[in-house]
Amino acid sequence: MRTNTWALAVAVAGLLGTVLPRVDAAGQAPDSRAARLRTQTDNLALQNVAPFKVFDNLYYVGVGYVGSWLITTNQGLILIDTLEGAYTEHPIEGIRKLGFDPRNIKYVILTHYHLDHTAGAARIQELSGARLAMGDADWDALTRAPNPKGERLPHRDIAVKDGDTITVGSTTLTLHVIGGHTPATLGVDFTVYDAGKPYRAFMFGGAAPGPGRQAAEQFLASVNRVEQMQDGVQVRIVTHPWMDPEFWERADRLASRKPGDAHPFVAPDVFRAWIAELKATAATRLDEAKAREAASPGSQP
Ligand SMILES: [Zn+2]
Repeated sequence: MRTNTWALAVAVAGLLGTVLPRVDAAGQAPDSRAARLRTQTDNLALQNVAPFKVFDNLYYVGVGYVGSWLITTNQGLILIDTLEGAYTEHPIEGIRKLGFDPRNIKYVILTHYHLDHTAGAARIQELSGARLAMGDADWDALTRAPNPKGERLPHRDIAVKDGDTITVGSTTLTLHVIGGHTPATLGVDFTVYDAGKPYRAFMFGGAAPGPGRQAAEQFLASVNRVEQMQDGVQVRIVTHPWMDPEFWERADRLASRKPGDAHPFVAPDVFRAWIAELKATAATRLDEAKAREAASPGSQP
């Protein structure tokens, strides 16, 4: 009986894990640093992690639960995602701590309209005059989104279309519209350098389907597209550190890396395995959405 009770507890915990995103899905102990960084979103002392260099031209300037990434070029800076609420100054301070001038930000890429990624954008635009780039349909979604904390929203700027590029100096990023998490979530395809050696990096701007059948279908199609593009991708850049169960370990390994050690963020197999996992998740979520629709016709969009 003991074994059965335990199995039941595990099954229930698994079910809860699917409906409560705050439950640690990576199998980490709830009190581990990674789990605390994911869940204690209001713990400023914990969340305000020091910015760090990841590649020659890529720096992490996000907090513990949500990312913000700085790309440096020979003609200015590009920022991906801008945090929210009490953390909107965090990337700006981080950029300064790293020795760069936030007024040199030329573009801000917003991976999708959710406020944890977009609420700091108005502030950065004000400071630097940077252009803001987000998927066309996500600009529309932003104006309709609930804004319970009264965040200041950025004004509509560049509406990204699939395949658009952003160039600053000799750096070009390709933007793919891979919706499903939101209507026009972006993928950012770019090159990072480690001691001058190039690696192809890919950021999947929203790696979980939004609610409803349409979003599940769109997400599955997007994952399939990314799978078609994945040959040669060597580095996965995440929008939230918790999407990579080893994110903080990689950061630690990077900090103590010795000459000749492999770069801990270069992991092509990890990218491929992740896309396969997302594909399975997408298919399951689509089946669930279809089943719900069949159970109560007309209630799902
Ligand atoms: Zn989101």
